[in-house]
Amino acid sequence: MRYHLETFGCLMNTYDSEKLEGILAKSGMERADSPEDADVILLNTCSIREKAEAKVFSRLGRLAGLKKSGKVRLIALGGCMASLRKEEIFKRAPIVDVLFGPDSAAHLPQMLEDFRATGKRQVDVAIDEHTVWDGTEDLPDKRSGTVAASVGIMKGCDNHCTYCVVPSTRGPEVSRPAASILAEVRILVAAGYREVMLIGQNVNSYGKGLSPETGFPALLRMVEQVDGIGRIRFMTSHPKDMNDQLVEVMADSKKICPAIHLPLQAGADRILGMMNRNYTVDEYLGKVARLRKAIPEVAISTDIMAGFPTETESEFQRTLEIMEQVRFDSLYLFNYSPRPGTAAVEMEGMLLKEEAQSRFDRAHALHRRIVAEKLKSFVGSTQEVLCEQAKATDGGFARCTGRTPTNQLVIFKGDKGLVGKTLQVTIKDVLGYNLEGLLAGI
Ligand code: SF4
Repeated sequence: MRYHLETFGCLMNTYDSEKLEGILAKSGMERADSPEDADVILLNTCSIREKAEAKVFSRLGRLAGLKKSGKVRLIALGGCMASLRKEEIFKRAPIVDVLFGPDSAAHLPQMLEDFRATGKRQVDVAIDEHTVWDGTEDLPDKRSGTVAASVGIMKGCDNHCTYCVVPSTRGPEVSRPAASILAEVRILVAAGYREVMLIGQNVNSYGKGLSPETGFPALLRMVEQVDGIGRIRFMTSHPKDMNDQLVEVMADSKKICPAIHLPLQAGADRILGMMNRNYTVDEYLGKVARLRKAIPEVAISTDIMAGFPTETESEFQRTLEIMEQVRFDSLYLFNYSPRPGTAAVEMEGMLLKEEAQSRFDRAHALHRRIVAEKLKSFVGSTQEVLCEQAKATDGGFARCTGRTPTNQLVIFKGDKGLVGKTLQVTIKDVLGYNLEGLLAGI
């Protein structure tokens, strides 16, 4: 059987898909690059916003023809949408045959087999609250990159932000033992990877429930001691759990990149309270100040949600002021999207669509201006760039892309032999949200 896998959503989903590919390969299935060449189509989905779900339903609509023609024998839908919507999916998309949640990937080959044998729809969306990571678990063996790779350090979330479905789709927080994480990092380094991204919904609370209890800063110190590791990144940090030890470890290290994703969400304490974020704007700004004092070059990215229920214009203005004050290096900007089963969906005071959109547009315009100014300041400097990709062009050279430690994407002329190398690149220009440079040294 040949499968075609499509992934929607966040880094965690990409990582889950990498693991899924390993599981399917072990069960004897082969990968097909296009849905037309596959017997089974798998969609690993996201339900963080209404738009993300709409994208999946529209994709299913476009796949219906292939299923009807008999070319594709089976469609399986996995990830957060399966977990959140469960059997409701079958009503809206009757072409789906198998539903599997984020914790059911290991059962997928058997579920596909059972569907083929019985013709009966299969559902397994149970959340495994007692995951045991002992180093023998399935590790991704089909990675999407060759230089940088993600490593899951925990799953689930205990925070219950009032707009977020993650605690219901992925369950409570469970940390992976450090030994198992380090084993995966060593495997990656031995396979030639230079950079790891440690991922979790809230990496700053890593270690709860482990014996011995290990905090995230301690885990970072262990990872940086793995021989051959070049760069370490991590995501996502919850501002309430970001502590001075983390700042200290980042400042001390030559391998931990000076970059942090610290979601602000909103610039007014009343809205942060309604979101159940458990920090105030002043506390957030205090943490930003500590980061910048200890690591002056640190890049800070954030999430902002425009138009949370009851947010007033002056509260939104406060968000713009904070954006102006912090000058984020990168921004994930969203409109509030009511999600089933969350506390916020019951709240009154939904903003008119036009008003929410106007706030989104203003935040977007402000961010574009700030980023353009920040990127311009790189022009003329020479940056250390880890080359991640080189695509051949007609001009007899390769178009290389790589990232600075502060996570700016740099495009430059080079050749395939540069992939995986840390290079000196002189920045010549700004290209949208990226930088353009000239190779200055290896
Ligand atoms: S910290 Fe909040 S926003 Fe992030 S996954 Fe947990 S509940 Fe969702």
